[in-house]
Amino acid sequence: MAIVVQKFGGTSVADSTKIKNVAKAVIKEYRNGNKVVAVVSAMGKTTDYLVKLAGEISSNPCNRELDMLLSSGEQVSISLLAMAIQESGCPALSMLASQIGIITESVHSKARIVDIKTDKVQKHIDTNKIVVAAGFQGITIDGEITTLGRGGSDTSAVALAAALKAERCDIYTDVNAIYTADPRVVPKASRIYQVSYGEMLELARVGAKVLHPRSVETAKQFNVPLRLRSSFNLEDPGTLVVGDDNMEICRPVTGIAADLKQVRIAILRVPDKPGIAARIFGALSDNNISVDMIIQSMEEDHVNNIAFTVHENDLNNAISVLERVRQEIEASEIVVDNNIAKVSLVGAGMVDRPGVAAGMFDALSEAGINIKMISTSEIKISCLVAKEKVEEALRYIHKKFGLDSKEPQPGEVSN
Ligand code: ADP
Ligand code: ASP
Ligand code: MG
Repeated sequence: MAIVVQKFGGTSVADSTKIKNVAKAVIKEYRNGNKVVAVVSAMGKTTDYLVKLAGEISSNPCNRELDMLLSSGEQVSISLLAMAIQESGCPALSMLASQIGIITESVHSKARIVDIKTDKVQKHIDTNKIVVAAGFQGITIDGEITTLGRGGSDTSAVALAAALKAERCDIYTDVNAIYTADPRVVPKASRIYQVSYGEMLELARVGAKVLHPRSVETAKQFNVPLRLRSSFNLEDPGTLVVGDDNMEICRPVTGIAADLKQVRIAILRVPDKPGIAARIFGALSDNNISVDMIIQSMEEDHVNNIAFTVHENDLNNAISVLERVRQEIEASEIVVDNNIAKVSLVGAGMVDRPGVAAGMFDALSEAGINIKMISTSEIKISCLVAKEKVEEALRYIHKKFGLDSKEPQPGEVSN
């Protein structure tokens, strides 16, 4: 008997009717003769609500307590789903990450999974029970509760599938497929039937939240066949995310995405001396703060301006670290710009096509949108634009690269 891991996101379990609907999808897989592990996120917008609640108590809540709070959402949904499955006459039990043994590193709010103990889950599925596992959470070897970062239940599911050597991992969500852009923002987005790990990883990293980037990274590393499907249309085959070798064609452009969670920090009038960049970015990295786009511009009098982007959640921490460094290196000022969004174009085939970057700049110019920063790699181009221009930017770029669907999409986006 094969093991199948299914994952259901927040909108799929938003209320009791939807939880009963998810129970049907789980039971269908079980009655097909598979051993089933269902990984579940918190109901609807529960995690957002908990974040807001913490914000009403503290302007800078500590990450340990945030993890204690946010991980509670999944405990509610797993128990309810297990009850719904039992109600339909199938044996099921819910398990928290601590009960399973999903071990993470000791970093709160964005911990990485380092090991998964499979013995307890295996014992239950071997005695024909359906295991309903809490996504998003983990436990350190010291028994501290951690979370994997927002959207992290996808990663819990893929990591469990890899550890259990599952036949496949199906991610059920509120859209029926992966599209060339978020279909809620770009109504003419085209459906993609098959995408490589590499292409999807890049799309997820630049903001296509349909899959958590680390879930794709894990699927690629352990070769887990991954499928994105709709919770609300079980007949739709969805999109397959497969090994790069399985792709016969190399699309110049796979899709586009936006990231609205970045902020730009500029350090002004930094002395133009060797070792300065190492001091700035070394201090950020020592504090576990990732930096994305970086630009250095030459000013007069042997001073530079250095600007870069970080995730908005890291802003407070970054500013306190940088203020110390600024004084040491005798830079004049730190300036923060919150009104930015990063739009990115991704495609494994763009490396051999020199016109792609020019096409993106053209599209933004036609839309009259100013570019604040640019970064490129072999398979992606990103531009920073003003936040309020992001949707327009996406639609212009989508059209420019011929990604607009010829036919109207069949309205497969569920709320
Ligand atoms: P879940 O709660 O099931 O994990 P998410 O909200 O995290 O669901 O992800 C699904 C959402 O991702 C969709 O509702 C859609 O708006 C968004 N999305 C962003 N980019 C894409 C894309 N390229 N293709 C499909 N959906 C996308
Ligand atoms: N409930 C968590 C969140 O909202 C994890 C997830 O949905 O994947 O981020
Ligand atoms: Mg998600």
